Parts: sequence; C-alpha cells; structure tokens
Amino acid sequence: AEEQLFVVYQPVVRLLPDGGVDRAAGVEALVRWRHPQRGVVPPIDFIQVAEECGLIGALGDFVLERACRDFMDWQARLGPAAPRLMAVNLSRAQLGQAGWIASVARVLRDTGMAPACLQLEVTESLAAQDQDTQARLHDLKALGVKLALDDFGTGYSSLSSLHLLPVDTVKIDRSFVCQADTSAHHRVLIEATVKVAQSLGMNTVAEGIETQSQLDVVRSQRCDKAQGYFYSRPLPASELLAWLDSKMAVAA
Ligand code: C2E
Ligand code: MG
Ligand code: MG
Repeated sequence: AEEQLFVVYQPVVRLLPDGGVDRAAGVEALVRWRHPQRGVVPPIDFIQVAEECGLIGALGDFVLERACRDFMDWQARLGPAAPRLMAVNLSRAQLGQAGWIASVARVLRDTGMAPACLQLEVTESLAAQDQDTQARLHDLKALGVKLALDDFGTGYSSLSSLHLLPVDTVKIDRSFVCQADTSAHHRVLIEATVKVAQSLGMNTVAEGIETQSQLDVVRSQRCDKAQGYFYSRPLPASELLAWLDSKMAVAA
C-alpha cells in the first residue's frame, strides 16, 4: 500500500554452440522491499512472513503484474532486442488460492503479454506435492505459460520422477553450480540432470554462475542457459535496459 515493494530483474542468457551467448534470452523478476528504516530487505527475509500473515497473494499479484507490464514496455521500446522470456517465482500459498489461475489469465489479457513469454517458477518440493497441486500446475500449463522447476537438487524429488512433473525447464541449484569446477561429484550431478532433462525435452538453466570456470563446465555439459553474477546481478528495470544496450553495442 505504501509502495515500498519493487521488482529487480536478473538476466538469463542462452549459451550458444559457437561459444557466444544470447543476452536477450530472458530475465527473472525478483522482489525487494525498500524499508524506511532497514533499507532494502531481501525476499528471504519476508516471503515466508508474507505467507504466514496472508499477504503473499497481494505480493505475488503485484510482482506478476509489474513484471508483465515491464516486459511489454521493453517489447515496445526494444522490439526484437527485448528479453523474450519473463520468469516469475511462485509461492506455495499462491498456487493454493482460489481464483488465482484466473487472475494470471487476467494479467496476461490486460497487459497483452503472450502466455508463452511467461515462465512461472516453482520449487521441487512444491511441484512434487499432492494431486491438487499437480492439477493446478496442469491448469497453468493449459493457459499456455511455461513452468520451471526452481532450485533443482535441493528437495526430495529425484531425477527418476522428473517425468511426472509438467515442467518445461529445470533450474539447477546454485549449490551444485558453485562447486562445478572444484568437485567431480557435483560436476557429475549437473551432467546427469542435464542429460535426464534433455531426454524429456526439458531445458536446463544453471543458476548462480559466478566465474568463468563454472561457466566452462556447464557449457561443456550442454546446459541451455545460465544466470548469475558472472553476467549480471539483479537490476532495476532502467539499468537492465542499459545492460542490454551496452552489450549490444559491444557485440555490434
Ligand atoms: P530464486 O528464484 O532461486 O532466485 C535466484 C536467487 O539467487 C536470487 O536471490 C538471486 O539474486 C540469487 N543469485 C543469482 N545469481 C547469483 C550468484 O551468482 N551468486 C549468488 N550468491 N546468488 C545469486 P534473491 O533475489 O535474494 O531471491 C531469493 C529467493 O526468494 C528466490 O530464489 C525466490 O525463491 C524467492 N523470491 C524472490 N522473488 C520472489 C517473488 O516475487 N515471489 C516469491 N514467491 N518468491 C520470490
Ligand atoms: Mg526463481
Ligand atoms: Mg533458484
């Protein structure tokens, strides 16, 4: 109500076979709270509180609507150079809310955003839940939006049950990626995840890439996309446009 929440965007790049990257592949929307005394509060400190006090619905709606509006604004301004996919995180409580799927459809309609440009991210533990949750994920898919499994590797669901989940993309958790270049075990886990995902026609994103050597590993394992501080920290919308622009200038 006091407009203290805002959304930042972290680029997600596509790793091209020629060794280059497509920088306009997509972005992930990440919420922040500008608190008058505490300064900028990260989502880890307030998402769960919002869930517990019943504010997650309003918070999630705000992020979704802001993200879709910004996405369409970039389309209008940059055309084909604009990011092609907008990822938005979902919390457990949102998925369970009556009427929520209809409100996603409404935001898409109101903003004019193509459903296939929206990727909703759910965690493994959430996606692997009961039949009800599964049914809701299928309802979302029926709208035409993409689904991603976030933080893969940190929950209980396994590679052997990946085929049961209606997801298009698997995001490999940072805890694996950050050891990609130092631990053979983690390297093999990433490799196995990429291979199983590919065998099911799913894309993979390596989360939390911070160094060139981590990037080299996930690239050699044919991961489709990468996200992390190595490319960019999450940025306010205005800075994201500058980031896209400066990289285009360098490429040209
Ligand atoms: P996530 O969806 O897995 O988002 C990625 C998180 O990793 C972000 O943290 C991002 O800033 C951080 N990150 C990205 N690259 C790197 C890197 O190279 N190194 C390190 N150390 N970190 C990196 P953030 O923004 O603090 O968000 C944390 C989590 O909070 C998100 O994890 C997501 O689960 C949740 N979250 C964020 N925004 C929302 C939202 O609007 N709604 C809901 N329900 N959850 C959200
Ligand atoms: Mg996410
Ligand atoms: Mg994640």
